[in-house]
Amino acid sequence: MRPELPILAQFPSIYRQGPRVLAHLPKILDSLNASKALVLAGPRAWEGAKSFFHGHADVTHLPFTGECTQAEMDRVVDAIRAGNHQAVVGLGGGKVIDTARGSAWLAGDLPFISAPTVASTDAPTSATTVIYNSDGTFSGYLRSRNPAAVLVDTAVIARAPVRYLIAGMGDALSTWFEAESCRRSGASNVCGGSQTLAAGAIARLCYDTIVADGPCALTACKTQVVTPALERVVEANTLLSGLGFESGGLASAHAIHNGLTRIPACHHALHGEKVAFGVLVGLVLTGAPASRIQEVLSFCALVGLPVCLADLGCEQPQEHELRVASEASCAPGESIHHESVAVCPERVLAALLAADRLGKEFREKAGT
Ligand SMILES: [Zn+2]
Repeated sequence: MRPELPILAQFPSIYRQGPRVLAHLPKILDSLNASKALVLAGPRAWEGAKSFFHGHADVTHLPFTGECTQAEMDRVVDAIRAGNHQAVVGLGGGKVIDTARGSAWLAGDLPFISAPTVASTDAPTSATTVIYNSDGTFSGYLRSRNPAAVLVDTAVIARAPVRYLIAGMGDALSTWFEAESCRRSGASNVCGGSQTLAAGAIARLCYDTIVADGPCALTACKTQVVTPALERVVEANTLLSGLGFESGGLASAHAIHNGLTRIPACHHALHGEKVAFGVLVGLVLTGAPASRIQEVLSFCALVGLPVCLADLGCEQPQEHELRVASEASCAPGESIHHESVAVCPERVLAALLAADRLGKEFREKAGT
């Protein structure tokens, strides 16, 4: 029996989305009484955004080194302390945002603003930092505080490579399935409570939105323009998925993602790409109806998400690697144990192999 948990949900304080909302950053810093802020960003993201800080002299750019590790967070904390910064901005992709969030927390719970330049994960709204080892393998989670503000500039996102938007749909694809698993099993959400009705409804809306608007949003991003469909998918990938996973809960898809990080050939795949395949594996693992599996396969193939291990860069999966991945996804405390079916590495390995075959056969039939 699972213990009865209080209903619990967590949210960022402000969410703003639209073309050029990055221009609101200096005002938001002022509203937080942060006269000195550190902006963690890669060189390209900083180049595109630095003009928005004109007139706000005390903003310092710290280049991001590429992985959200404990060592990287320690380096950022040192910079925050050395510069006496009162707020931290994460400008860029999921790993930049995670590093900035974790560092703001470790530096003494400073206000954190997340400003994603891609819609590739649901990291921007949450209080969770995913920490990796320097070799790219999953290390653990750090729970802190939701951002004081989330600024999603859709004009910037429309100009980013389309692969990121697709990966974001992969992350968003898992949200409803994992929240639904937690609701059924009574497992804890990421906040440590049981799911609110709002979180369940948001997770379902997330799924419906990417299915309805995904293809048109993709076209907009390929054309580098902002359309209503793109706005809706960006909201689904960022806000709906973020609230849905945090207050709805995680289950098999993210645990399988964490296991897949143990396979070196998958290292070039983005978080949401591995999560999307994790959804398929999770559906097989939990005995989902064939119609549901077909629906997810069709969506993935339509928008360009992986449906098999080869799509993730693992052309010839070695059994020992898949075994290591399966064992890692069943580690104690992993969210796979939130499923209502009994789970063990053998069953995950079987589901991995079966899902891989289903995906390959789907591709063969579709001629893709
Ligand atoms: Zn995710």
